[in-house]
Amino acid sequence: MAKVVVVGGGAAGLMAAWRAASLGHTVTLLEANGRLGVKLRISGGGKCNITHAGSPKDLLAAFPRDQARFLRSALHAFDNGAVLALLKREGVETYTRDNGRVFPWDRPGSAAAVVAAFETLVRRAGVVVRTGTRVTALRGCAPRVEGLVLAGEQITADGYILATGGASYPETGTRGEVLGWLKGLGVTVRPWFPALAPIPLQHPHPAWEGVSLRGGELRLSAGPEGRRLAAFAGDVIFTKAGISGPAALELSQAAERARREGSAWLTYASLLEVPATVDATLQSDQRTSPRLQVSSWIQRYLPERLAEPLLLAAGMDPGLQLKDLPKGGRKTLVTLATGLPLGEPRIVPLARGEVAAGGVDLAAVDCATMALRGWENLRVCGELLDVDGPVGGYNLQAAFSTGYAAGSLM
Ligand SMILES: Cc1cc2nc3c(=O)[nH]c(=O)nc-3n(C[C@H](O)[C@H](O)[C@H](O)COP(=O)(O)OP(=O)(O)OC[C@H]3O[C@@H](n4cnc5c(N)ncnc54)[C@H](O)[C@@H]3O)c2cc1C
Repeated sequence: MAKVVVVGGGAAGLMAAWRAASLGHTVTLLEANGRLGVKLRISGGGKCNITHAGSPKDLLAAFPRDQARFLRSALHAFDNGAVLALLKREGVETYTRDNGRVFPWDRPGSAAAVVAAFETLVRRAGVVVRTGTRVTALRGCAPRVEGLVLAGEQITADGYILATGGASYPETGTRGEVLGWLKGLGVTVRPWFPALAPIPLQHPHPAWEGVSLRGGELRLSAGPEGRRLAAFAGDVIFTKAGISGPAALELSQAAERARREGSAWLTYASLLEVPATVDATLQSDQRTSPRLQVSSWIQRYLPERLAEPLLLAAGMDPGLQLKDLPKGGRKTLVTLATGLPLGEPRIVPLARGEVAAGGVDLAAVDCATMALRGWENLRVCGELLDVDGPVGGYNLQAAFSTGYAAGSLM
């Protein structure tokens, strides 16, 4: 049996440590924070969206194709059912929402219950847990790691599993520095990149903070008249600095890429209303309700707080009656009702992403064992890998599955 050190006490590291110890290895788990699972505790707004319902094939379909190919073996070996069965054994009951997201039964601190279950699992399996212990360097060169440097100490083992997470929410312990060490050792890595983050806008609308846009899709194009680059159907919520909400998070990575390439433009477009239908409705309303004010009319399509400022910005008096619409006024109203220009994004913050894209290049890793190619005693798992799924429990599932694979040492 081997002496194994796991670095990082998050979803992937806890799983890897438990699995390796369950197989009889002598495992030490090193965690920089004073307690385990800090990011797990804030996941899903403290409720922890543990995983997503569906077959492994369904889950894999949510990831970009290269990531899905990489995850296939690990997910089949330890899927969502296996995670939930393990938690159930420790008393964590779960339920599935209509949208497929799986959560522990609602009660305050349900994410903490998931962490507590994992703490019990690792301690019962005999893992030595050292919290408040940040690894500061990795010693060795391919094909072997020779040791890890901690403050004032060096630690050696037969095998090393790195589960140090991504680089977002650095206050949760994930500073992303381990990627730099691996790069220095010749491992192919992809730089950290923001993902699943709110999008700040060049011209934000702080007065609209909290207002939601619903029933449409957020579109990203290369400039106001440029070609469509990406779109995501879902709600958007205005924040002080820009936009958040499901559609904004999902499009944030593409928006930042487009911004860096020089041209990015965001629009929220209605999926329920097409210009021709809205125009026909408007013409009919002009006949049947000629005295209706444009500000009241547009509120059928836009939140109340947005109506007046948008009409004014478009050069139209909100008190204007439908019968008095000037030439071109119909087009202005139809455009506002069917698509709201949000304009150019500003830098999407890496630190505020629910995940960080980038990480260890998947081609450098054996997808069945998470062993780094060219190394005899080094494995990586979790968000440290170049894996970033959408919102919905996919990222934790990827961390659990790859952690399990990494801990499955012979
Ligand atoms: C606000 C928020 C909400 C989220 N909600 C969800 C959700 O509901 N569902 C979902 O699927 N995903 C969610 N995610 C994403 C998910 O939490 C992560 O993808 C997942 O936790 C990654 O697991 P990990 O074990 O790889 O990394 P982490 O959980 O981040 O764990 C890595 C650990 O390594 C430690 N560490 C780092 N460097 C060192 C070092 N040098 N020495 C020692 N220790 C070190 C860190 O302190 C950290 O505890 C959310 C993320 C955020 C930020």
